[in-house]
Amino acid sequence: MKALIQCLVDWLNENRTDIHAWRVLDALARDSLKLAESIDPTQREFDVLELAQACQPERDWDYEAAKRWFNRAAVPKFLEARRADLNAHFRSRGHDQALTIAQRKSAGRHRAPWYLSTYALNPLGEDGQPDEVTAANPPETGSGTVEPDLIYEFTPPGEIKLSLLGRLLLGPGSFVALSARGLVWAILMMGSVLFPMFCVYLLWSMRLINRPLLTGDLILMLMLICTSWVFWRIFVRPWIWLLDDRIVPAAVVLFSLKEDPAQLDMAKDGKHRYLRLVRYGGVCPVCAGTIELRYGMGVNSRRLFGCCGEAPQDHVFTFDRVTRAGQRYHG
Ligand SMILES: [Zn+2]
Repeated sequence: MKALIQCLVDWLNENRTDIHAWRVLDALARDSLKLAESIDPTQREFDVLELAQACQPERDWDYEAAKRWFNRAAVPKFLEARRADLNAHFRSRGHDQALTIAQRKSAGRHRAPWYLSTYALNPLGEDGQPDEVTAANPPETGSGTVEPDLIYEFTPPGEIKLSLLGRLLLGPGSFVALSARGLVWAILMMGSVLFPMFCVYLLWSMRLINRPLLTGDLILMLMLICTSWVFWRIFVRPWIWLLDDRIVPAAVVLFSLKEDPAQLDMAKDGKHRYLRLVRYGGVCPVCAGTIELRYGMGVNSRRLFGCCGEAPQDHVFTFDRVTRAGQRYHG
């Protein structure tokens, strides 16, 4: 058992990622390894609260929150998507068994614990290909069946930890557009629209220079053009798109570095219009990676998609802000 767990720990080390499922497995494998010599296998069982605490010790966990967090992490999906690679890893170390995560079904205890269970690896087929590779590919990727759907999770304003600048500009995470804070945003917006206009004016006024063109003039021109472009891309365009599309990806300077990517969105009720920092995220139904919103390419350059952090070009889902549902997208 110890050799198998060590093998899993090595595989996790080789495939480091920041997604939750990986952290759960890493914590489970490391804790199991410490107790690998124990004869009593129930010692290597951990409930979701223990696992959540091991993954994020700084957070105050209760059992229900831990259970939600664990279910969201989709650990079995994480393993299923990487099954072929995992099996090959165990096989290359000379094992005829591999490890997966399993939950002990117990009628009496509502806190059914999780543990690492073994399963037998199929012997190599005649063509040298492991038999279960075909079985490991989930049937939903085949033709004629329904692709996995994604339901986006919505994090309301106030639950995303803001950076210092974010707190200054957004207050608690959302504010009424017609307010003092809204005025600050409007001034910033006007300022960043005026800057490229000022650059254009400077360039235009250069025609009045009544002397031969110098290298310095060319450099100044180039710098003005570059700065206007940067201003346009970073400040002006997102603001226009925010007003038009109701949602844009938020700049990373607005929220804490530990947070997943967030978005700025506009909402309104009967009385006010609000600017809010929110998050539409999720867990990739293919590989359990973290879904984040990104702009598409080409004709879709203004359309947001849910892209998996592990395979951003391949695990792509449509995004609908209202229904919060996504379909697998093949561009
Ligand atoms: Zn994925």
